[in-house]
Amino acid sequence: MSKADDIRELMRTEGAAVAENTRGFNEGRYRSVAELEDYEDLKTEARAIKEDAIERLPELLEQLQESVAENGGTVYVADDAADANAYIREVVADRDADRVVKSKSMTSEEIEVNEALESDGVDVVETDLGEWVLQVADEAPSHIVAPAIHKSRESIADLFNEVFDPDEPLETAEELTHFAREKLGEQIVDSEVGITGANFLAADSGTMALVTSEGNARKTVAATDTQITVAGVEKVVPSVADFHPFVELIGRSGTGQDITSYVSLLTPPVETPVVDFSDDDTPLSEFDADRDFHLVLIDNGRMDMREDEHLEETLYCIRCSACANSCANFQSVGGHAFGGETYSGGIATGWEAGIEGLDTAAEFNDLCTGCSRCTTACPVKIDIPWINTVVRDRINRDGDAPAAWLVDGLTPDDEDEGAPLQKRFFGNFETMAKLGSATAPLSNWLADTQTARWLMDRTVGVDPRRDLPQFQRETFVEWFAARESTVSNPDRRAVLYPDVYTNHVQVDRGKAAVKVLEALGVDVVVPSVASSGRAPFSQGMIATAQDHAERVAEGLSPHVEAGRDVVVVEPSDHAMFCSEYEKLLDTATFETLAEHSYEVMEYVYGLLEHGASADSLGRVETPEIAYHSHCQQRTLGLEAHTVAVLEECGYDVTTSEVECCGMAGSFGYKSDYYELSMDVGDRLREQFEAQDVRDRPVVASGTSCLEQIDALLERQPRHPIELLAP
Ligand code: SF4
Repeated sequence: MSKADDIRELMRTEGAAVAENTRGFNEGRYRSVAELEDYEDLKTEARAIKEDAIERLPELLEQLQESVAENGGTVYVADDAADANAYIREVVADRDADRVVKSKSMTSEEIEVNEALESDGVDVVETDLGEWVLQVADEAPSHIVAPAIHKSRESIADLFNEVFDPDEPLETAEELTHFAREKLGEQIVDSEVGITGANFLAADSGTMALVTSEGNARKTVAATDTQITVAGVEKVVPSVADFHPFVELIGRSGTGQDITSYVSLLTPPVETPVVDFSDDDTPLSEFDADRDFHLVLIDNGRMDMREDEHLEETLYCIRCSACANSCANFQSVGGHAFGGETYSGGIATGWEAGIEGLDTAAEFNDLCTGCSRCTTACPVKIDIPWINTVVRDRINRDGDAPAAWLVDGLTPDDEDEGAPLQKRFFGNFETMAKLGSATAPLSNWLADTQTARWLMDRTVGVDPRRDLPQFQRETFVEWFAARESTVSNPDRRAVLYPDVYTNHVQVDRGKAAVKVLEALGVDVVVPSVASSGRAPFSQGMIATAQDHAERVAEGLSPHVEAGRDVVVVEPSDHAMFCSEYEKLLDTATFETLAEHSYEVMEYVYGLLEHGASADSLGRVETPEIAYHSHCQQRTLGLEAHTVAVLEECGYDVTTSEVECCGMAGSFGYKSDYYELSMDVGDRLREQFEAQDVRDRPVVASGTSCLEQIDALLERQPRHPIELLAP
């Protein structure tokens, strides 16, 4: 099956259930964190604890081993999965146990402990409801917190009715849960060995936190006399007091619960007696309290990740799943496409690259579009898109070396160690745009011929169903150079950055921006400056993106030094200046550019707030409009500025509620992802075709959004600045 077929099949079979459940989690998250006054402080605190713990990891691990030994338990640090499984098998064999009950643990999935024990003839029973459903169905998890998120209630009822043949067919969620509870209860009570994970481990006491929704982990520990806990080495924090911000954040961030139903703090081996539930006569105090505890800490690549300046941040992850839930692509396909051998969602690339290697990460890394909607959702502030970009860059370089002629300076990029042809094609959009404008309209006609579309599909994977950008013969820079300023006595001075899309394709929005700024008393210049590097950055071509960033900084610095503000029309380029350039430029250059850069509607908002009059702007023709903000603009918190300006100018604005339009730069152009892109976009289409919105003209800030909306709706969208132009 091709990648596109795979994705299509998953969208058909699992997409609806994944979308419904993840969006439910997101709604819960938005509500729950909004009610938490110190949400940002808790995130900062959680991040600081993780930074410190990973920095001091060897020391904390040593302390943890001492604490557990003092408590009467045993710690085994396993180098890899085989090492861990060998130890666990030995413990189970020593107990002569023929059944092991297990609570949910991603790390135990990672080492495939079930398969290892089953090969010894041990019956392994998952006690988490979702995990058990998958065990019965013989399927892999599709989500790190809700493993059976891709299954509907109806499909679970069909499964149970077929496999267990109950007296009365099961139907409702309550009936299914009750049935599972009874079945699992029977299995737990007469098991001798229980395996759990651990969300957090305190080095100074050996205490662990288990955060669950069903209480099955607690039951697994209470009912068995041998507890094996499997956890990655990164789970250790200095003390129990450090659990606090994580316990506050993990449920809110993942499933949108203010706190998970069960938060168990255990310091094993626990001292309560092991109860024989079939014996009602013996007093509790007379049962045997002699318990065994084995903490199996897994390295499996983590200590190498700790030494890797980019992958290290992955170890801060508390596996809450917010990055999966907030991801528009994940919502359509779930973890069976957007995941590797164990981990799924946004951060999965980091985990899989560190644990399994680049080949596994390469299978799904391209599904991250870098929209950045996960970054504000992450409770430990991990720069997930950056990890995905770094891994993409490594995957590019890990491929076959390019032919010699490609590296002899004949390509307009800096990818001397190579990158796949498709990535080079999209990553060098600036070159294409320059050629396209210089030869327009011939270039537009030629690119649209059937032969050209067929060739583009076959060679670089551009989907023929997608309309191509139409290059303008006169660029925005050329148009500006041929006119006179209308401002004689300016209140402010700005350099309007001619991003590659505004300069070559969406020239009208550039012209509108100049007219609006001049009408508000701003002296504007539009110099010729390199493209931002967003295109190569999105393809994982970091060296090329860095070269662009340096040339942009060089081109804009004289204007900034001369006291001009930097105004940017394209939100994804503005996000480069304010976020991604931090990784590409030296600190001083980045900070100066970020500090002086404004998204164009944010800038207009500032001008109006500081006394400029909206009277000089264009007249309102159709007051009721629909507005779709850009994902990166929303991450930077700038959506509200556009809405405020439009409202001040007399518009009644309905805003979209989707995370992303689905286009995401080149993503929607790629043959493998065209249908996924349209599926994501469908949520926006539905909203903008609702009864009370369907007649409203549509405005959108990003180039990709404009292209996607154009494909989704009958209405031709415009940039909001075009509504304001006098
Ligand atoms: S990267 Fe952040 S958002 Fe994603 S699972 Fe980890 S902690 Fe949660």
